[in-house]
Amino acid sequence: MEDITTQAHANFPPSSAYAWSECIAWWFHRVNSPPGEAAIRGTLQHDAAEALILHGKTDGVFTQLTTDEQYLVRQYVDMIKLTHQRMEKRGFDHLSNPTIEERLILPPIYLEIYGVDPNDLFGTVDTKIHALPYELRIIDLKTGRVPVSPYENPQLKIYAGLALLNQQPQYTFEELKNTAVQLSIFDREGQINHWVTTGAHVIDYVMTMINRIQTIKSLSLARLTPEHYNPGEKQCKYCSHLGKCAAAMAANQTAVGNRDTPPTEISPEKLYDIYNQIAQVKTFCAAVEEEVLRLSLAGTKVGDLKLVTKRTHRAYKDPVTAAEKYEKIFGEAAFTKKLKTPAQIDKLIKLAGAEGSVECLKNLHDETWHKPLVPTIGTVDDKRPDFVREDNAIEYFGKDD
Ligand code: SF4
Repeated sequence: MEDITTQAHANFPPSSAYAWSECIAWWFHRVNSPPGEAAIRGTLQHDAAEALILHGKTDGVFTQLTTDEQYLVRQYVDMIKLTHQRMEKRGFDHLSNPTIEERLILPPIYLEIYGVDPNDLFGTVDTKIHALPYELRIIDLKTGRVPVSPYENPQLKIYAGLALLNQQPQYTFEELKNTAVQLSIFDREGQINHWVTTGAHVIDYVMTMINRIQTIKSLSLARLTPEHYNPGEKQCKYCSHLGKCAAAMAANQTAVGNRDTPPTEISPEKLYDIYNQIAQVKTFCAAVEEEVLRLSLAGTKVGDLKLVTKRTHRAYKDPVTAAEKYEKIFGEAAFTKKLKTPAQIDKLIKLAGAEGSVECLKNLHDETWHKPLVPTIGTVDDKRPDFVREDNAIEYFGKDD
């Protein structure tokens, strides 16, 4: 389909749909800041993956990646090829090659029906493989440190919905709605997580988002009322308005305000309520710290707090000259040898190729162990294994009465 969008980023970016779909006010307070170091590294890795899968190229942008990044990109590309081969073996009639970095837009018919601007909603999918009208796979490469789940992931649901809507009129709407959709996240640890849903679900989601866009476009910052604010950990965390937001402050006060009961005397039901708001409160506390620093730097006194100099480690002005100098004086003693972590060694073994890797991996298995397992709290959909309570767990929990 011809690309009818003219902007680099959509007015309502799928990557932040979780925020603007939860809190209308978030969209009005968003700010465009220049990309940080993590985003720049992420773009390089995406570009390298595209060059590798489309042209088999490991020169150019690939050489700008660190060893770990190169390893991640290779693993990602291998996984895509393998996924495609497996689908091919199942003999679909209309299997597409993996499409890499494809711009997905709303088809003109929908723009017309819903009165949406083509620049409002579009996105660039990392990988799309379809065997329509039966199956669609959307794969996203995540290079950030924060783990992301494909489960009900707004960004991936929008990509999948847009991909399906673009298939008309080759397939009937019913066929598209019955399509099995697999949303996958490939993360920086080389793990891939899937979530399977239906075409109907992702198409409905896109329609909901179109409605949300229309609601937002019918408003303006001056016309926002309290009902347009919806505090929640995820949306508030990256909201530029957090430090000034009365709604977020009220929510935090409800969570922590006037609490005169110690946790040991609170019922499990109430504890559950409070526990679920801890992340939101932490987000607010981080914004308070940021604001105190900002005011202090601007010369405003905040109580008896003052600006002090943070201690930093000394660093060599010229590490190479320093290394030469101290090697002459102290020899090997001038250097610290640091063994890489088991996960890093694991990557090195795989990067080095098949030869000897079985033996190396066995060695790694023999040389590593898991420190004694400790319990922590997770939610019902937490993928980590349940903690099995053994006799020594008494030291964590105390004795049962
Ligand atoms: S701080 Fe939270 S509630 Fe306030 S505008 Fe931002 S996202 Fe919405």
